[in-house]
Amino acid sequence: MRDETPRTAAKTPSPAAETPSPAATAPSPAAVGQARDLPLDSHLHTDLSPDSDVPIDVYAAQAVERGIAELAITDHVDFHPRDPAYGYTTFDQRERVVREAAERWADRGVAIRFGVELTYNRRWEADVRDHLARHRYDFTIGSVHDWPGSAYRHPGRFAAWAAGRTLAQIVTPYFEEVLAAAQSGLFDTIGHLDVVKRYIGARVSPAELGAAPELYEPILRGLIESGTGLEVNTSGLRQAVGETYPSAPIVALYHELGGRHVTAGSDAHRADSFAFGLEEGYRVAGEAGFGELMFRRGGERISVALPGRVRDAPRHT
Ligand SMILES: [Zn+2]
Ligand SMILES: [Zn+2]
Repeated sequence: MRDETPRTAAKTPSPAAETPSPAATAPSPAAVGQARDLPLDSHLHTDLSPDSDVPIDVYAAQAVERGIAELAITDHVDFHPRDPAYGYTTFDQRERVVREAAERWADRGVAIRFGVELTYNRRWEADVRDHLARHRYDFTIGSVHDWPGSAYRHPGRFAAWAAGRTLAQIVTPYFEEVLAAAQSGLFDTIGHLDVVKRYIGARVSPAELGAAPELYEPILRGLIESGTGLEVNTSGLRQAVGETYPSAPIVALYHELGGRHVTAGSDAHRADSFAFGLEEGYRVAGEAGFGELMFRRGGERISVALPGRVRDAPRHT
């Protein structure tokens, strides 16, 4: 996810984006705070992203205090000059900061990995491919955000564009990009697969979109065919949508179709969002039928077992 802070105020936290909001549906209150005692949060933004002001050590200290054993730092890399992270940092700078923090914290109970969230769009897929061929990360997330010229970029323009269009027509431009990202095979996992429900909330509710699983199915099949993971992104639990990206039934559908690689991350941009809702994210994975998360620490992919309390939990829906 991208925190929707204007570029002119890039370091100002965005309350609208990050203030915890009461979830409208299923998650129990205990599940939607900041989590404790989990093995991994694999989606985090530090002050090396233009929309976060959190020093890496703040997350590391919270991880130790909360018993989150491993972190992937996944700052933004953008490829279009109009996108906020374009040219914001260099690879070398990001790698140095994360590796040095990993060394500082290694013997204090938290492992820190060097990841990335790359903004994907078909129009710059070649640039993404080239970047990944030249740079080695421990773990990669490919995400579709809005893009220059997209109907989602400005709320006023979205309302006019969406008028008279069906739900399928409204989500299709976003889902076409996500499908291409899934099929590209470039990434370990696809971030916040349907964050579009945040952009289109004025017109389409999360429940309405959730009632159209056929719109997701080609994407889920694309993930399976390319071996790409599906992220359970818990940032939606602190936003108006009140559910994960994607929701529990879609994660269950992915498993049902044969998907076996699920990841989970809080996508924090602020200190108080660290591991937020992650217990619920793990629960969504466990209830969908997964016994483990997929992760990579450079090299081959590995499995991270879900805690027993999540794996064996009775379904609450
Ligand atoms: Zn993102
Ligand atoms: Zn993110």
